[in-house]
Amino acid sequence: MRAAVLQEIGQDKLEVFDDVEATGFGPGRVRIRVRATGLCHSDLSAMAGVLPQPAPFIPGHEGAGEVLEVGEGVTNAKAGDRVVVCWLPACGACPACKRGQTELCLAGFMNAGTANFKRPGGDVFGFAGTGTFTEEVVVDAGCAVPIPDDVPFDIAALIGCGVTTGLGAALNTADVEAGSSVAVIGCGGVGVSAIQGARLRGAAEIVAVDPVLSRREAALRFGATKAVSPDELPDAKQSVTAGEGFDYVFEVVGRSATARTAYENTRRGGTLVVVGAGAMDDFLQLNMFELFFDEKRILPSMYGGGDVLRSYERTIALWRAGRIDLEGLITHRVPLGDINEALDQMRTGVSLRTCIEI
Ligand SMILES: [Zn+2]
Ligand SMILES: [Zn+2]
Repeated sequence: MRAAVLQEIGQDKLEVFDDVEATGFGPGRVRIRVRATGLCHSDLSAMAGVLPQPAPFIPGHEGAGEVLEVGEGVTNAKAGDRVVVCWLPACGACPACKRGQTELCLAGFMNAGTANFKRPGGDVFGFAGTGTFTEEVVVDAGCAVPIPDDVPFDIAALIGCGVTTGLGAALNTADVEAGSSVAVIGCGGVGVSAIQGARLRGAAEIVAVDPVLSRREAALRFGATKAVSPDELPDAKQSVTAGEGFDYVFEVVGRSATARTAYENTRRGGTLVVVGAGAMDDFLQLNMFELFFDEKRILPSMYGGGDVLRSYERTIALWRAGRIDLEGLITHRVPLGDINEALDQMRTGVSLRTCIEI
């Protein structure tokens, strides 16, 4: 079958091969025919070595498709089901799951070190234990989450990562208060989802910050009240908050420099939400005086910062009711064979999300 493979960490192009096999089917496992997958910034980060990932590997962790077969003991899904591929499955038994913080369950990561594909040359890993830039993938049963028939595959794929991450940051982690002021730094698919979450919660002012004009324009369509480039942020802080700083600032880039900017633009007593996934050797500096004196709350948000399956259901309900726009997030579509076009669209920032149709 066909799949897009990164041969070595640090390369910037994927190679599409026809001789890939999805391995590891058996008890507790599910074979999925992938139909749509989004390109998420974390895929690029893993390719670049910013996020840890063994190679060669098949990127992609934001996918949806239909179940081809299920292994012995699988009860949550059956052949023919339409599913979201969840890259962070909940085991249901660990302390984090029991507290309802399934986004902190580590069970899924146990699979990330095991190859779930192979080629004639040897084993191939799947990103984050999934790997959706492929026609078929074999995953743990918990990674196959059935969805209602009225949710198209392209929309379902977005729910598998970007939308859940961005919406959850606003709804679960920040719990944005009505009437508040919000800034979102980084307005790709995740940032725009955070903007939609802030709008749902009734934020009075939502300032989108991004260097790319098309993303700033998109942010306004999704509910931002103002959209500025990074060097215009000081003026926006002045005009929107009288210089005090925003009640909430979302960092959706994953770099210490933007996190520092976000911290400085958060008002005293306000909330900095860290959504971007960054590198292990990139350190955010805060001095002990400001940390104490300014009483800013720093809230990291992993995969929406809440119960993952509940987040999926909530997103589907909001989308069905027309309260959030998911179709508008897909600005580009390419077939799997043109996957490198999708990478370029993400790198240059012209796309919010590129849907790869498989
Ligand atoms: Zn992602
Ligand atoms: Zn667990």
